[in-house]
Amino acid sequence: GAEALPLKKHGITREQISGSALKVTDKLQAAGYTALVVGGAVRDLLLGREPKDFDVATNATPEEVQRIFGRRARIIGRRFRIVHVPFGPEIIEVTTFRGDADDVHTDEETGRILRDNVWGDQEQDARRRDFTANALYYDPAKQVVYDYHHGLRDLERRQLVMIGDPERRYREDPVRMLRAIRLAAKLELSIEQGTEQPIESLTPLLAEVPQARLFDELTKMLLSGAAGACLEVLYSSGLYKPVMPQLGRIMSTKSDRDFLQKAMSATDDRIKAGKSVNPAFQMAALLWPQVQRRWEQLQGSGQSGMQAMMNAIEDVLDRNKGLAPARHAGTMREIWSLQPRFDGRTGRKPFRLLENGRFRAAYDFLVLRASADDSLKELAEWWTAFQHADAGEQTRMLEQDS
Ligand code: ATP
Ligand code: MG
Repeated sequence: GAEALPLKKHGITREQISGSALKVTDKLQAAGYTALVVGGAVRDLLLGREPKDFDVATNATPEEVQRIFGRRARIIGRRFRIVHVPFGPEIIEVTTFRGDADDVHTDEETGRILRDNVWGDQEQDARRRDFTANALYYDPAKQVVYDYHHGLRDLERRQLVMIGDPERRYREDPVRMLRAIRLAAKLELSIEQGTEQPIESLTPLLAEVPQARLFDELTKMLLSGAAGACLEVLYSSGLYKPVMPQLGRIMSTKSDRDFLQKAMSATDDRIKAGKSVNPAFQMAALLWPQVQRRWEQLQGSGQSGMQAMMNAIEDVLDRNKGLAPARHAGTMREIWSLQPRFDGRTGRKPFRLLENGRFRAAYDFLVLRASADDSLKELAEWWTAFQHADAGEQTRMLEQDS
């Protein structure tokens, strides 16, 4: 059974829950269902952090949820069906309580969960969640937190602890290994020893996970505000091997590692300051060492700077289809292909570059490159000065250069 923690134990008030999530729990409860805020949001509030989004768990089936919220509520997923209820730009994810893992459709040989749409009660649902800190349920009407697996105690100890037998839980879903390192890095928790121990030997299981899920998890790492720490642990734990083998070469090359760390700490700072970050920019940084190496090779074999860059870009995107899906490739291409153009500091060229729609992102990228490569410092400083100079100064800067 669950421990029911009163307000004075957990301190979470209704006001801290998004209005949209409250509408969802209130409406479901009014229709006679159980409905609670669950997972990351409750965990984050207990840690004194602002939740990224709000998930709701209920005993209503996806069809019943849809009946209550009408057309705009969309049932999504096949392997794991959930309902998205949109409120303007905010989406509340509503998940029906899952039943026991034994009743779930798993692969006989690997133990992997193939389909997970067997409904259960709240207690069974709690057992199916990954970490104890993620199995906390908040009832906004009663202002009570239900804690099934000592999640609050583990959070107080600042530990991430797997529910149940960690090895079995990783075999059911290998992505939980990546979730463990991401959540630990982002929330500054340590991974409890028993939870950490099986990861090394089970790492190869990640090779069987669909690319799209790995890509989603990588994106979450990049946007976590702790991308630098995530990549470090991805490397040091060896988990990168089936996911992103190219990280091995980057992290063992000092200049590449410096560049990547600078890129990630710059984006982590932006996220922590509440600013937006385009994951395509981070992917562009992640693959830049490869682009740069290929760019130099092709220039060495006689191609012009621009031509070599275009060919290097296509080679690298081609080799990294999983990491650079089509929806990001366009932006990555733009950021990279503008890099050689920073060398053109005469005539109309600098003005045309300033007018380019991607100038800002490409310039930020140049500054990053310069922060890890002294030979680019002067160039980056020139562009910093040039874009802020008035027309007269800009002309003088060009004259000086030619
Ligand atoms: P974030 O802050 O990144 O949103 P989160 O813990 O809320 O972290 P979600 O992916 O939003 O992560 O998942 C919501 C909840 O669903 C989790 O807190 C956890 O209880 C459960 N969950 C998500 N993925 C898994 C998984 N692979 N195995 C078991 N439970 C999971
Ligand atoms: Mg969440």
